[in-house]
Amino acid sequence: MDSILTCMDCGKTYPINERVITCPACGGLLDVTHDLDALRGTVTHELFDQRLGSWNKLDHSGVWRYRELILPGLPEDAYVTRGEGNTTLYTASPKLADYAGVAHLQLKHEGENPTGSFKDRGMAGGVTQAQQLGVRSVICASTGNTSASMASFAAICGLQAMVFFPVGYVALGKIAQSVAYGALSVQVEGDFDDTLALVWDVAQELPVYLLNSYNPFRLEGQKTIMIEMLHQRGWRVPDWIVVPGGNLGNSSAFGKALVELRDLGLIDRLPRIAIIQAEGANPLYRSYIEDWQTRHTVRAQTIATAIRIGNPANFHKAHRTLDWTNGVVTIVDDQAIMDAKAQIDAAGIGCEPASAASVAGVRRLVDEGTIAPDADVVSILTGHLLKDPDAVLNYHAQTLDGIESTYANHMKTIKPSLDAVAALLTE
Ligand SMILES: *Cc1c(COP(=O)(O)O)cnc(C)c1O
Ligand SMILES: [Zn+2]
Repeated sequence: MDSILTCMDCGKTYPINERVITCPACGGLLDVTHDLDALRGTVTHELFDQRLGSWNKLDHSGVWRYRELILPGLPEDAYVTRGEGNTTLYTASPKLADYAGVAHLQLKHEGENPTGSFKDRGMAGGVTQAQQLGVRSVICASTGNTSASMASFAAICGLQAMVFFPVGYVALGKIAQSVAYGALSVQVEGDFDDTLALVWDVAQELPVYLLNSYNPFRLEGQKTIMIEMLHQRGWRVPDWIVVPGGNLGNSSAFGKALVELRDLGLIDRLPRIAIIQAEGANPLYRSYIEDWQTRHTVRAQTIATAIRIGNPANFHKAHRTLDWTNGVVTIVDDQAIMDAKAQIDAAGIGCEPASAASVAGVRRLVDEGTIAPDADVVSILTGHLLKDPDAVLNYHAQTLDGIESTYANHMKTIKPSLDAVAALLTE
């Protein structure tokens, strides 16, 4: 059986090549459902090992190396790639692990993707599907990284790209990328949630294909963060996976990936997932602590602009991930985010603010007694340090509103003399 689209709410199914984003019958989110019975036995640890080290461009991609689990059955030249994935799984230094409060901390650095965030894995999936459908224009609302990634992938395969930002709340590096890659770039006078609502309406009315994380093919690509991480660990499942939550695409993709890997016998148990939201952008957390009585939305505010989202598209799928993995949700404030970021940066690894929520979240969950200090923990760093240079420089210059620069590394200015340098050394 071919892969199909399945509505997670009403269960209705659609052929894989029907041009739908959500369920036309009920509006529910769609899943790409694979025929796991057919894949069982074909998709093995050995198959993925054989592809490691190959220069074949599909085997070399950290997404398409796992293509049977993402978008099976296309001819080789149909897969769009720019060598995404293959990101480092760092072992945290003793100092950083100590800061987080756990003995075993690993950091999967998705900022090492071609455009500097995990969005490239999703776009490899989404743009490949856009090509299959024969669309000419792709569109997204973005806090910055989705647009940078979509602009790049669209340019690579000759699609027209239209990106929409909330005015004033997109980090510098991300806007620069979208403009540079040639996307039609539009600032909307509203926040991300207003921008996504606008783009959603546009995608219903105009001949454009939506590449926000409502798009199930994006989430298929993002599953490979889990698959590649487990491959790197020799398929040893950690106790916890800790991920920042904005539009909740990753949280959703991770749950689906893990359940599929378990059902295929590629892993023997499920890890627990912890989703970390910013205190000022915490709709999932609010619903979680009330045992899901209401679906909350908020007017979001946080320095971590990538997760400055008050009405997450993938709310229901993230809830499902939490059910599947006995997961938890917690929040961290901007101070905790920036302090954790300073620690990750000073460890030589570096990330953008939203990414640091994952390490701040580990610290909080250890404090609360949810994560045991001897647990085996993998945190996901979602974006690159250089995405948001303003946040870095303002933190270290102590010029961030309402934030204490706990770990500031002050820049010095000196006269060009040996004595001046000698004085710095003895300071
Ligand atoms: C998009 C993004 C997020 C949020 O991810 P979701 O899948 O929407 O929850 C977090 N961090 C960075 C750097 C991002 O670009
Ligand atoms: Zn439906």
